[in-house]
Amino acid sequence: MSLELAHVRKSFGDYKALDDINLSVGAHDFVCLLGPSGCGKTTLLRIIAGLLQADAGTLSFDGQDLGRMPPRLRNFGIVFQSYSLFPNMTVRENIGYGLRIRKTPADRVAARVDELLRLIRIPDMAERFPWQLSGGQQQRVALARALAVSPRLILLDEPLSALDARVRNEMRQEIRDVQRRLRIPTIMVTHDQEEALMLADTIVCMNNGSIEQVGSPQVLYDRPATSFVADFIGLSNLLPMDWLREFSPQTLSEAPPPAGDGSRWLLCVRPENIRLESRADGAATVGAVTFLGNLCRARLHWGKRELVVEQTAAAASVEGERIQPVIDARQSCWVAA
Ligand code: ATP
Repeated sequence: MSLELAHVRKSFGDYKALDDINLSVGAHDFVCLLGPSGCGKTTLLRIIAGLLQADAGTLSFDGQDLGRMPPRLRNFGIVFQSYSLFPNMTVRENIGYGLRIRKTPADRVAARVDELLRLIRIPDMAERFPWQLSGGQQQRVALARALAVSPRLILLDEPLSALDARVRNEMRQEIRDVQRRLRIPTIMVTHDQEEALMLADTIVCMNNGSIEQVGSPQVLYDRPATSFVADFIGLSNLLPMDWLREFSPQTLSEAPPPAGDGSRWLLCVRPENIRLESRADGAATVGAVTFLGNLCRARLHWGKRELVVEQTAAAASVEGERIQPVIDARQSCWVAA
């Protein structure tokens, strides 16, 4: 493990922004802090960076206590949402800044900057100023500047949120490639679940100042622990036990619920795990159908509930059709309500 957080807490006045955060980041991990606006992601990142002091708890890196270590001694590279390049410096000067203030000899700074310009694929823009670059190019320079000093951890605070969809997609891939190549542990804040699923080895799903679940993208998608995670990552149908007993008893016998109070559990059924059989005596009616290219998404009216189903475009149902839904119980899981 490289970074370890134990029992970290932070309040702003009476407001608890972080409550008992425990987290380990592996030596080569790409970790995404994912959650809705205001859940505490940026606060946590700022505490790790040393820009904000926790009220309680411990932080260590490779066994070294980060406690009151000032940010510049931590040797972490940080990229913020706004490009935050120095406007009066060229790309070359921006990238070399951290090395120059560490009194690195000029020829070594130049060689390192050239290497990074190649890495981020803008070798011919070294003499431009930030205002002569696109948003995506500026964010590449910000990344190169963070990497220049060979940081032992990279912290990214929504670095792609100001970019348009196409550039954002390209940049995601590049950030992932660069991280894979350099193998520096990385923590990125995002509220975009697609981004987290695409980039992360480990997703830390946060809600209301607490961690709901930590796991690989696949685990969080296939086996969410709580209804919040099931709802926040991908689409899901969250079905109460009473409803299943009445409308799909077969599912209950195939996926027996955990013991104890049934009202504490919901069955999470992903839209692709409901098969539709076209039958005049079917128990459900197809509502709005949306064409998504390779898939069709349909709303089902079934037992006074609306469920969402996705099927290949070729198998798509038509609005108003009567169908019998069949839940794939083996692919579904119980989550805490
Ligand atoms: P977003 O995605 O919108 O940036 P976030 O998950 O990063 O959200 P934080 O910025 O960590 O959220 O904020 C968590 C909560 O703490 C919010 O309710 C915010 O208003 C509050 N907060 C953050 N910084 C301060 C501060 N300096 N003073 C008072 N409250 C703050």
